[in-house]
Amino acid sequence: MDVLLMFQIVNTFFAGVFGLVIGSFLNVCIYRIPEGRTIVKGHSMCMSCGHVLGAPDLVPLFSWLFLKGKCRYCGAPIASRYAKIEGLTGLVFAVLSWQRRDFYYLPGLPDQNPAGFLRLIILLFLACVVIVSMMIQKDHKTGMYRLSFYVLFLFAARVFLCIFDRADLVPVLRSASAALLISAVILALLIILSPFKRKPPRLFFSDIFTGKSIRDYFSAANRTIRTTDLLFAAVSTAIGVPAAIFCLFAYAVVRAAGNQEKLLPLMGIIIAGSALTGVIVFPGAVF
Ligand SMILES: [Zn+2]
Repeated sequence: MDVLLMFQIVNTFFAGVFGLVIGSFLNVCIYRIPEGRTIVKGHSMCMSCGHVLGAPDLVPLFSWLFLKGKCRYCGAPIASRYAKIEGLTGLVFAVLSWQRRDFYYLPGLPDQNPAGFLRLIILLFLACVVIVSMMIQKDHKTGMYRLSFYVLFLFAARVFLCIFDRADLVPVLRSASAALLISAVILALLIILSPFKRKPPRLFFSDIFTGKSIRDYFSAANRTIRTTDLLFAAVSTAIGVPAAIFCLFAYAVVRAAGNQEKLLPLMGIIIAGSALTGVIVFPGAVF
């Protein structure tokens, strides 16, 4: 076998294992960030008996499998979602890394591309923030502005990378601003047209002309949907067109569809799933 290919397979395997470990950390983030607790200190403990968990209990995914989903000390069942998030993160890391295997950095070889490797690292960070946002949205039925700013910060890091590869700057900015523009148009239409479902046509048009639909959108009662909309716009911009196409389309359809209250917990999953699909199907200028 070709040495380069073997190097890429081994690296992808390690990226997957690394993803499992990171997934275990993401579980802590998902649980603690909404409570405003620190994510760097404190021990993990059993939710039932309070026993502090040791290293053999904390091997991502495998501890859960070997303990058959039960606490070693009290036998209480452990929710499978922790293992699922670890597995999902590992899988996402492996898939994204395999697809961008030409970016792997091996010092000493000719034609190396450290900027491409850093671009892969930023993409993996982005995947982490999106997974955390997705689960917080599911648990609390609302997004958090802070997470959208992390997404935009990672996009800024990607733009910063263009210093190393000047030719990238224009395509990256073009791709991201197209996605930003389309998501802004989608959100503007949703905000203006949202009373349409609830109101008779006469009131609906008066809402548009008096600006009431816009004021309603920015009222305190709508904070939840605003945080979710911001996450959608931030993720779409960060991955740029054409990768954002699925995300733009899916979010517009779901957001325009029936019962928003019921759909809120699922919005994060829709954003995350469609964005990931886009990044895998259309690796574009940004990532
Ligand atoms: Zn226990």
